Amino acid sequence: MPPKKHNAFMTFVNEWKSKNKEGRHMSIPQAVTHCGDIWKNMNAQQRGPYIALAKDADVLARCTVERLNTQGQALSAVEREERDLANQIMLMKQNTERIVREGKENDDLENTKFIFAAFNYFIKAVGNDIYIPAEFAACEFSLKTGMNSIYSSHINPGQLIYGLSSDAMDHTSTTHQLPLPPNALGETNMGRLYENILEYLRGKNDPKKPVIVFTTTEMLPVVKGCLRYLESDCSDAEEGAIEVYDIRYLFFILKKEVADIADLPTDEITKTVTDNLFQKDFFEYHSGISCQFHEDNDRGRYCAHSMVSRWCFIFSDHMCADLAIKPVPGKHMPPQQEQRFSVTNPDESTAETSFQSCESAVKQERKYARYVPSDNSAFSADIKESNDFPSLGNRKSKPIPKRSAGNQASRDPRSAAYVLVTNRTAAEIDDAFKMPRRFS
Ligand SMILES: [Zn+2]
Repeated sequence: MPPKKHNAFMTFVNEWKSKNKEGRHMSIPQAVTHCGDIWKNMNAQQRGPYIALAKDADVLARCTVERLNTQGQALSAVEREERDLANQIMLMKQNTERIVREGKENDDLENTKFIFAAFNYFIKAVGNDIYIPAEFAACEFSLKTGMNSIYSSHINPGQLIYGLSSDAMDHTSTTHQLPLPPNALGETNMGRLYENILEYLRGKNDPKKPVIVFTTTEMLPVVKGCLRYLESDCSDAEEGAIEVYDIRYLFFILKKEVADIADLPTDEITKTVTDNLFQKDFFEYHSGISCQFHEDNDRGRYCAHSMVSRWCFIFSDHMCADLAIKPVPGKHMPPQQEQRFSVTNPDESTAETSFQSCESAVKQERKYARYVPSDNSAFSADIKESNDFPSLGNRKSKPIPKRSAGNQASRDPRSAAYVLVTNRTAAEIDDAFKMPRRFS
């Protein structure tokens, strides 16, 4: 925007006001009225200096005009935006740390509740931060109880933004594959949906305090944009009722504090390490944790319902073991999965859990039996099938220690005698059985 032009008359008013005693007591409108009469009677020569002064002021203003960046944005505005963003991130970090620290100081970190939220969207509006939502899911989580409750809904916004339907089709077909409006599924009243979501998120908490929800770094703008879209349709929505924070930062802080409580070394727990752990997402292709639509269409990976559930499982998988919390299926891990990790060895359990999802049931059972000896159910099946300890397979019990491979003596009827004399020297064995010497 070009700078405002200076006015010769106003230059005169300002000077008159500062030079006359009566002027100093006048307001601007009073001074303008008073000076109007004087200005009217002034000739061009008398007005000349004021016209020149106004022009000088214009030139000066043009020199100090705001500097722009290559995209034509005022630099000061860009800097202000960056500053605001940095402040937001700092506030997010401080609040996340505060929540975790409070839980730890009260010796109740395992019962501290967190809310995870995710959205799927059809399209992002051009030029602003609004996203048109397609599916919403949120759940309440604590380390002790795992996923306490879950709320999810498909959303039918009724219409898409004119001219953007091909973009919507592109995005949808490569991700969640939910049908596009007007054939979309789920809730059609955006205002009511917003109220329901807010009611769920608040739970029993103080309605005056903002609710904090956690989502992934990539999904921060989506969750904020979708909430803004729903909120705009709700007549009595309060601004700032829901704050959206980064779940990866929470994962990092929580993991560090949990390790500290468990007296484990915390030096190696950095944000990069925990980010990697979180992003592995090894429950990604797990069935039975998505909404029915995504379960049927095999798009569970993109389902909002599945996403928030998976985050609970990832948190549990990396932290419950440290606090000796026994994982419960459906709460700390997918419901169809057997307990495959022991609280005493978190590192092995992680590898085991992710690996086994690809294996057949039989293999899993054997592996599981070997892995968690405390659970005897898998063992007993094997024991009944054979007459011996499962590790010996179907062989009959023989008091024979294993020798080198291909030892014919073990299959020889005489081997029993052979075993009894193993403490004798090779020469003595040869003598006893009249056989060629095998050992030297
Ligand atoms: Zn879904």
